[in-house]
Formats: sequence, C-alpha cells, structure tokens
Amino acid sequence: MITHLANGMCVDGVGDTKVRSLYLVNGLIAESIEPTAKIDANYDVRGKVLMAGGIDLHTHIGGGKVNIARLLLPELVLPKIESFDSHGIRQLSAPVPTTWETGLRYLEMGYTTCMEPAVLPANARQAHREMADIPWLDTGGYLLLGNDRMLLRWIAEGVSQEQINQYVAWMLKAHQCCGVKVVNAGGIDAFKFNQRHLDVDESHPVFPVTPRDILRALAQAVDELRLAHPLHVHCSNLGVPGNIASTLKTLQAVEGRRIHLTHAQFHCYGTGGPHGFSSEAYQLAEYVNWNSHVTIDIGQVLFGQTVTISGDTMHQFANRNLARPRKVIFQDLECQAGCGVVPFRYKQDQYVHGLQWTIGLELCLRILDPTRVFLTTDHPNGGPFTAYPHLLRLLTSYDFRMSIFERLHPDVQSSSSLPSLKREYTLEEIAQMTRRGPAKILGLQDRGTLESGKVADVVVYDPSEKLDTMFSSPTMVFRHGELVYRDGQALKGSCKTTIVANPSVETSMNARLNREWPEQYGYNTDMVRIVDEELLSGGHRLKAATPLSSS
Ligand SMILES: [Zn+2]
Repeated sequence: MITHLANGMCVDGVGDTKVRSLYLVNGLIAESIEPTAKIDANYDVRGKVLMAGGIDLHTHIGGGKVNIARLLLPELVLPKIESFDSHGIRQLSAPVPTTWETGLRYLEMGYTTCMEPAVLPANARQAHREMADIPWLDTGGYLLLGNDRMLLRWIAEGVSQEQINQYVAWMLKAHQCCGVKVVNAGGIDAFKFNQRHLDVDESHPVFPVTPRDILRALAQAVDELRLAHPLHVHCSNLGVPGNIASTLKTLQAVEGRRIHLTHAQFHCYGTGGPHGFSSEAYQLAEYVNWNSHVTIDIGQVLFGQTVTISGDTMHQFANRNLARPRKVIFQDLECQAGCGVVPFRYKQDQYVHGLQWTIGLELCLRILDPTRVFLTTDHPNGGPFTAYPHLLRLLTSYDFRMSIFERLHPDVQSSSSLPSLKREYTLEEIAQMTRRGPAKILGLQDRGTLESGKVADVVVYDPSEKLDTMFSSPTMVFRHGELVYRDGQALKGSCKTTIVANPSVETSMNARLNREWPEQYGYNTDMVRIVDEELLSGGHRLKAATPLSSS
C-alpha cells in the first residue's frame, strides 16, 4: 500500500520546516519511491501543515483507578461541552471517558501514542486489557515501584544494587511495562502506618529507608539496565506550599542520573505572597535549564470540573475536604501502592487555582529546550487531555494568555511574573514538545518525526492563527500508513502496538522471587507474569523501546 501526500508544509521539530512530499509505504514514511511503483492513494495537501502523530507520555487512561473514578463519577464519563473562557473557546470535556471516547478524542487531536503512567503490578493485566481496548492508539505503561514492601525491605536490608537491578528487570518483564514510575517514594506505604508526611530524608516508620535511598537505588537500576525512559518521578509533598525544597532534593537524590519529574506544576510552590502560597517556577525552570539529565512534564491546570486520581493516597487523603462533588474513595492496594480518587473543580477566580494555572505556563515558557518539557495536564488531574488544543494556543499567543490572565484573582495578577514572559511557542517547538521530545525519552526511535523510515503516523492540519481550532480538527490522520480519520470522521483502524522495555532477566531472580513472593503477597509468581501471547491477541503487536546505547 503506497499513499502519496503531495506538497505539504512538513513541521518536524528538527528545525527544517519546508514544503515537501511524503510517501507512506507499507506503514513507513519514505521520501521517494521507485518511478514504476504504483501509488494507491494520492492527496494534494498543498497549504496544509503535516506533523508526526502526537505522543502523550503521561495520561491516566488505563488501570484500576480510572475505573474507580468512572464508578464514583458516572456524570464525568460522557463528554460534554465545557467553556474555558468568555471568548467562546469551547472544548469537549470528559475527565474519565470510556476507552472508545479516549481513543476517539486523542485521534481528533492527531495523537497516536499514549502512555499510562501508573500501572500497579497487581493490576497490570487489567491495565493492559483496558489499554488494548482503546482504539487508534499505541500504548504502554510505567510500572509503579518505590512503595512495594519487597523493594523497601530489600533496600533496608542492604541487598546489592545488582539484586535491585534484577528485581526491576524481572518486574518490568513480568508486567510488560516500558518504564519505572515512583509516586511519593515510600510515602504511600508510610501512610499505611498512619504517617501523614514523608520528606526526602525522613525515614519510613517501619523500614529504615528514606525516599532518597529509594530514588537513588531505582535511578541507578534504570541507568544500569540501560532503559530508554528515565526514572519517572512523582515527588514527595505533592501540592504542599514550600514543596520546591523537597522537589530540588528529589532531583539531586539521583546524583546526576536521568530523571523525569512528572506534573512539575504541582511540585514547585513557595510560601511567599499574601496567601502563603507562591510560584517557584523560576527556580525549577533554572534547575532544568542547567541540568541536562532532567526532563519534566507540566501537569497544567485548566479551569473547570475534573477528578484527581493518584496513587499518592497520603496527599489525596489530605485533600479530601476539597472534593467537589463531595465524594471520595481511598484504597490500599495489596502491599504495593495505594489510590485516592478526589473530584475537583478548578476556579478561575480562586487565588490558588489561578496561581497554579500561571505556574504551569511559566514552566513551559521559562524552560528553553522544548525537547525536555512536555505538554500534559496529568489527565485528568489538572484537567482532561481534550484541553490540549486550548493549552497550545495559550503557549503560542501572548495576547490570548493575557486575555485570561486579566480575569484571575487580583493577587495572582499582582504577584505573577507571567506578563513579563513574552515568549510565543512556534510550530517547530510544538512539534518538539509533543512529538520529537517524547519519542526520544521513551526510546521510540521509530516515530516522533516525519523522517524517512519512521512509522507513518502522519497528521494533516489546516493552518490557523487560532491553534486551538487547528489542533482540534485535523483534516486527516494516518496511523502506520493507514487513513484512520478524515474530515471529522473516524475510520476503522487495524493495528495496535504495546510498547515494552523487555530487559533481560536472570534465572537467579526467578528462584529468589519464587521463594519470597508467596510469603510477601500470599500468591505465587505464576499469577503475576503476563506472557507475550496475552498481549498479541486480536492482531496486536509488541514493540520493545530501544535501550540506551552503552557508549
Ligand atoms: Zn499522573
């Protein structure tokens, strides 16, 4: 099958925007074809913008807590029109959509690859099943470690780093994940002993181990296993005024190893200003600018109704009285993690919410390298992913973001430095932030740009000054070379791929876990392992992320 896209403006995130033609040949992009080759479909895309398929590296689209949120808040499952501002910018809002809606809404924005960032080991099979049920997206998951009793105990007992590495490799392989995630290292487990706070150098109430110990051991394991994706970290003290101190300590705890700080907006707060809550975005952005081993995603807050779903039970419980509507769920999940579901409404005229909105934008605007700062709302925690087109317009238009800034709480307006940040993202920078950059830190060398040989995930947009319109209504989307969306209509898509890390596992770790796992968890390791065949049903494929080269 050969498709020809003629004379489109290719925006690639490699600084080489120009008009050129692409061929989609058997699922891959090619610059040219043999003169005698038969072209099956020809599209004149003159005047259109072509980009690679979008990649969301942090969006809660599968796994148990999404289903818990759907059960708690059935009113937030179906999409409804929500107005973001008085300019008439209207977006479809569905904080916990069905799997079908999830795939459809991502497709409508031109996204083709999404990562679920919190796969609980005990629930990994269900998470994979749910992701497999989302049409039009390639998916993968990060495995939650850092609060499982086995690991905490081993670190406390001083097992060798080699054993920790092999444990991480075994867990990733058994649960078919492509990265390692830490949520409030040690804190979720400490909460089970009624502790309400665990700082980076504070000891767990039972095991003599600190968050710093856990972060250092896991970051080292990720590096020594040559995993493409850095340790993916949700810091201690989420949402707490003054948490910039523990966030910087967390970044330092990995001792120069690669680290990805997720939903950074929730982790860079000071205690200044009239309400004891202030922005420390400048400090965090400077740290990122000066330290190339750090990447972040934003976790932008957007005004309106959403639901927060997090493994960080400690801090979700602390926020229970903020729930709107007033219903919450907290769970202890095996001896591996926890879960808190708290519905929430961000209000434009509320000081804290308004400042959070400015902090996310400040981070995007102050971090200089768009391949190290990624567009997320931590869906659905800061807002639903369907708000991305609106968020892109905020980044590309100073006047547009100021038109909203002027309606925030007066104390936000008097204390924020946002008006001084005149930067406007270019389309090239958006391609870096939403395509090329995420592909790079996920080890997805097969996608993220429109270069020859890449997977033919190609989006055709109508250019518009109003980027929210442009990015919410592509004219065509191709996945693996197949036309799956055209002029507002989703078409049947065939292939789906699950992205995994696939590290090599030593048999000695099998033997150790066969002995210790039943004692720790009450069931044996055979119940845990997800074999490849389970993920390959229905024509699905597995793809291993490219490991880091050892050079
Ligand atoms: Zn998250």
